This record gives sequence, structure tokens and C-alpha cells, in this order.
Amino acid sequence: MKCVFHETQRRHDPRHFLSSGAQKPNPEVPERVNRLLAGAENAGLERVAPRDRGVAPAAAVHSPEYLRFLETIYERWRRIPDASEEVVPNIHPDRRDFSYPASAVGQAGYHMADTACPISADTWESAYWSAQTAAEAAAMVLDGEKAAYALCRPPGHHAFADMAGGFCFLNNSAIAAQVLRSRHERVAILDVDLHHGNGTQGIFYARGDVLTVSLHADPARFYPFFWGHASERGEGAGLGYNLNLPLPRHSGDEVFLDQLDVALTRIAAFAPGAVVIALGLDAFEGDPFGGLSVSTDGFRMIGERCASIGVPTAIVQEGGYLCDALGDNLAAFLQGFRHAAAI
Ligand SMILES: [Zn+2]
Repeated sequence: MKCVFHETQRRHDPRHFLSSGAQKPNPEVPERVNRLLAGAENAGLERVAPRDRGVAPAAAVHSPEYLRFLETIYERWRRIPDASEEVVPNIHPDRRDFSYPASAVGQAGYHMADTACPISADTWESAYWSAQTAAEAAAMVLDGEKAAYALCRPPGHHAFADMAGGFCFLNNSAIAAQVLRSRHERVAILDVDLHHGNGTQGIFYARGDVLTVSLHADPARFYPFFWGHASERGEGAGLGYNLNLPLPRHSGDEVFLDQLDVALTRIAAFAPGAVVIALGLDAFEGDPFGGLSVSTDGFRMIGERCASIGVPTAIVQEGGYLCDALGDNLAAFLQGFRHAAAI
């Protein structure tokens, strides 16, 4: 099993974000890469770099104007007198279907859901290569690998078709799913990150060919607040193809694995040809976000059960923040997966 990663993904180094109104250091730091690479290595994965497929994989799930925004906004922002060092929105439209703004400040508010995704000089390049990493892992699976791990950083599951949010810019899991769709009629995305995969849900909400399932801390009092509730089931052709399983705060292994079985039953009924696991590790009991209480051994069991789906699988890294066990949690998941899949 391979671990895909490109060195350029380290460059994005966001400074701050606002949490309950307070300015805090941004936890989506480059050091995460070192911990995750060590975890993948400990699980016996061989590291490879992705090929450059250009903008096409991202353009398959994101709008042209959004991609243009991500690529150009930093330079335009820095031309504003007294602008901040990083692009951070300070005004948002009350609805997004009225007029598209021409100004850099207006576009930042239009394309950024919150303050947790500041854009600096290196953000586009890092997000671009994170997306290439996801596309490469999906391509490996199409080429016959049973599974591949994409060390995507920055992460992606809070990014909508035309909006960044929550440390995310390009939706790597959605990109991987779309690559898999080129040869599989039905693809499922199983998101086990602490936070609801709202961007992924948004991208596929009206589609019945990509099933989106997310386990996460109940958003009633937790990010991303406006999405992730059990009542959100999809719309139009996608009605019934989105399943949200919100968990009570501080739920541990037993509750998580119990709801994971509900997710796996839904996925089995959908009978996908391939699967994307959106692998957040921030449901860990020692993660700085402190939302759920999954143990390191819990991640091993989650890995085993994900492998039981039994179809080609792209594992895409989402959240999981600095704590002593971050690398161990990845290794535990991957070892559990490899053991159950016999790879
Ligand atoms: Zn998360």
C-alpha cells in the first residue's frame, strides 16, 4: 500500500483563526505532515509523489470562478493599502445568488465561509498539490491497487464547490470520488472526521451516484453548525443519498463503532464500486478540539471495519491535529485496514 504526498503541501502555513471570537494560532500547521508521514511509515506504507494532472481534477468538482479566486486572490489582496498579511474575510453576503463582487474584499467574503482558511502566498500551490495527491491515490485504485492513502494537507472536506472553510480549500475527498466515478457507476464517501464533511455533502447533495455518509460530533453546538444534522438527506436526484450520523459530544469507541456499523450498512445497500474514506483523526480523545473520545485502538477497529466494505478504497487524510498520538492514530487505522484487507 502506498502513501502519496508532495513536498509542496508543506508550504501553506496559516497564522491565525478566530475561535469563539478569540484569535488563536491556526492548528493546521505543516508539522502535521511529519507526524502523519511517520505514522504511514510505521504502518509499512511506501511513499510516492503524485503526478501533475493540471487543474482538471479540481475543476471536476469546483467552479471556474472559485479556482480563479484561489489562484489569484493573494496577489490582488496584497495590492490593497494596509491589507492584512493573509486573506481573511470581513464581510459576507446574506445570500450567495445575488451579485458576484468584483473586489478582492468582496470575493473573499463570497468564497470563504469563515476565518479558519486564511490564504497566504503559498496556499494555492499547497492546496493544488494536496488535490493532486488525492487524484493520484484514486488513480492507483483504478489501476488495480486495493487501497491507497493520500496524505492530503491542507485538508478538504469543508470546501464546497465554490467556498473555502475550516482549514480547507480544495475538496480532496470529492476530487478522489470524482476520479473513481470515471470507471465506477456508484462511489461512496465515508467521512469519519470529528467535524461534519459539509463541503463534500454540498458538492454531491443533488446527486444519486455518489453516496455521502458522515459521522461527526453533533453540530447543534459544534462546527460547522449549519450542516451535519440528521434531517439533511439530499435533494432532487440526491434525495436519500446523504446520511448524517451526529454523535453526542465526547462519545467514545463504543458509540462511534456502533454508528459506524449503521454507516456501513447504508453503504453496503448502495453497493458502490469504490469507496473514499475521508480520514479525520480529530475524533481522538486527546485531540486539541476535544469533541469526541475515540482511542488509538478505536482507530485500529475503524480501519478494520472500513476494509470490510471490500471494494477498492482511496483513503484521504482530513483533520487530526498536533498531539502525541497523531502519528500512532494514523498507523493504527492503516494497520487495522491492512490486516482486515490482507494487503
Ligand atoms: Zn475535523
